[in-house]
Formats: sequence, C-alpha cells, structure tokens
Amino acid sequence: MKLSWHLLIVFFSLAVLAATISAVTGAQSRDDDDDDDESALEDPLPDSVDLRVFIHRPRVIKPNHLGTCATTSNANVDHFEETGWHLDGPIVWHLNRSTVPKNIAGSVDSVLNVSFNTWFSGLFSQGGDTRVKRAKFDNVNAIMWKKLGRSTIGVTFAWFSRTTGEVLELDTVFNKRYPWAIFANAPDCQSSPDAYDVQNIATHEFGHWVGLDDLIEEEEKDLTMYGFSAGGEVKKRTLGRGDISGKNDLEP
Ligand SMILES: [Zn+2]
Repeated sequence: MKLSWHLLIVFFSLAVLAATISAVTGAQSRDDDDDDDESALEDPLPDSVDLRVFIHRPRVIKPNHLGTCATTSNANVDHFEETGWHLDGPIVWHLNRSTVPKNIAGSVDSVLNVSFNTWFSGLFSQGGDTRVKRAKFDNVNAIMWKKLGRSTIGVTFAWFSRTTGEVLELDTVFNKRYPWAIFANAPDCQSSPDAYDVQNIATHEFGHWVGLDDLIEEEEKDLTMYGFSAGGEVKKRTLGRGDISGKNDLEP
C-alpha cells in the first residue's frame, strides 16, 4: 500500500513535468511559426514568374537588438545596384490598416506616401485598404505589419517575369515584433532609439520597388539602399548620391 502511494506521487510528478515541457516547447513552436518572413518562397508560382525577397537586418545582428545608430559621415558615395526591373507605369498600393501599430496609425498614410514620393512623385498612389495578411502573389501590392523573425526589420517581396524582367507585384512587410515610431527629420540618430522610424525603413524598402538592390559595403552605410538599419535612425529618409544616381538611371 505504502509503495503504490509513492508510485502514484512519482507518476503525478512526471505527468506535471511532461505537461510543463510540452507547454514550453508548444510556446516556442508557435513563436517559430510567426517567423515566416520567407513563407511566400514556398508558394507555388506559374513557371513564368520568379520571386526575389529582400530582408532588411538590424545593423548589429543580435537577437532583440535594434542595431547601433551612427550619424552620417559620407552620403556622397556614388554607388548603386539595380535589381533588373523597371517601373514604367503607375503602381497602386494597398495598406492592411488592421496590422498597423496603434502609436503610428494616425500618420502612417502620409509617411508611406512621403517615402514613395522620395523616389518618384506621381508614380505611386494609395488604393483602398486591403485585408491581405501575408506576402503572396495575389495581384495586390500590399503593405502590412506582421510578426517576423528576430533578425528582420522588414521584408520586400518582388514577383517578376522570368522572360521580360517586368515586375508583376510588390509587397512590403514590416516586423511587428519590434516597436515603430515616426521621428523628426534630424538628428540622424534620435534620442529614443528604441524604435524603428517608419519613413526611414519604408524609403529603403520602396527603393526595391523602383528597382534598386541592397548595398552591403561599409562605405555605403550612409546611403538609403544600405541593407542594414538601426533603432532611432532617420538618415535613409534622404537619398544619398548613389541613391540619386540609381533613381535617375531608373526614371520611368
Ligand atoms: Zn533592402
């Protein structure tokens, strides 16, 4: 009798332990499921369509670190890389308003429009809101916030024709895992660097829309198309020399 009582306690303890482990790993796998920055890569596409994914990273890659902001030292580097597509007609984009962080909801439309117009005014126009919840090839140029992996600030997806190189659809997803803000234009590094500036990151992402690729060399760090950013940073709002050269080359 005494022995079976002890066995019952041992069995009960093991059951509690197993339930705890299961709860913890369950939470982790749900967390991993959110990290689907590139899930669109697994979607089937027509043979004629290819996809490029541009992932924007924190300047210092550490989990849960917004990156180290550095003031501009030389935005006169005259370098750009092209993706291969040209925009030749108007592009209508759609915001999933239900995903926008509440603290920036009041100004997000104007900030996104300013970011587009920094490249080409009159080329991009805002259409009605969309309910699209993830990047996918669906004929909707969608902008949304979504929880992505820890080493991602934002992602732009570009679907284009394998034969003509013509871009067919563009989506941009900002990482809801991190805080977002709308800072002032100056200084380059704001006093509360605990959030990413929407205009700073959006201007970079929309550079991909117009056909510019990421730059990764250290000397290119003050250009809008540099592939890394930091919390509090706003210098990508303004195009550097190489960005302007690229824009002029891609003028529709
Ligand atoms: Zn990029």
